[in-house]
Amino acid sequence: MPPDKDLLQAVEWIREAKYLSAFTGAGVSVESNIPPFRGENGLWATYDPELFDISYFRANPAKSWTLLKKLFYDTFRDAEPNEAHRVLARLERRGMLKALVTQNIDNLHHLAGSGNVIEYHGSVRELVCISCKKRRGAEPALLESLPPKCECGGVLKPDIVFFGEEIPIHALLNVEKTIEKTDVMLVVGTTGEVYPAAFVPIEAKRRGARIIEVNVTPSSLSQDVSDILLRGKATEVMARIEAMLPA
Ligand code: ZN
Repeated sequence: MPPDKDLLQAVEWIREAKYLSAFTGAGVSVESNIPPFRGENGLWATYDPELFDISYFRANPAKSWTLLKKLFYDTFRDAEPNEAHRVLARLERRGMLKALVTQNIDNLHHLAGSGNVIEYHGSVRELVCISCKKRRGAEPALLESLPPKCECGGVLKPDIVFFGEEIPIHALLNVEKTIEKTDVMLVVGTTGEVYPAAFVPIEAKRRGARIIEVNVTPSSLSQDVSDILLRGKATEVMARIEAMLPA
């Protein structure tokens, strides 16, 4: 657990913030049993990242989908939001947290009840047609025969950012607006190594925001970007923060 003086300082900044935002990564979801992409137990240690390249997907949609379904739909179906997701949702309901930017594609912030979520890398919640770009919910029935197809005959793809794809423009614009207003940012469970996502806290800091980092171990942001590093599991540190806020 982080020292009380750091926690007290963080809580004071959160209470005084005019526009508190949050930026979350894989460390928030590991406690919901969602495997991270990176690190020694990450998906990249088991699967070739090439499999998540958009050109591979276009060339091998059925093969690609067999893996995507197993990794992102069968696994995620049973995953539930944890206390870190729930604290962030409650902070929003209390009017304290104004926006949440996540790198996670697992939909858990939505399931926890967060409303203003900017999904930087998209979400598995929806499928998008690679031909006509129409979106629809990722209903299990659609995934019974792979690859799932759109009415237009095009292949449906999870609405997540593959390698070789751009960050969705609406996400970039919303992030820009969020950073512009943010005076305090909670950075939770991210190593800050995935670009361009890592620019979110870096840019917020550059524009004068205070950065409160919550991570089990120091990250690439800890030294130069974070004002405070609260070391510990996201669930435990977020619960401590919430407990120290006025009721
Ligand atoms: Zn279509």
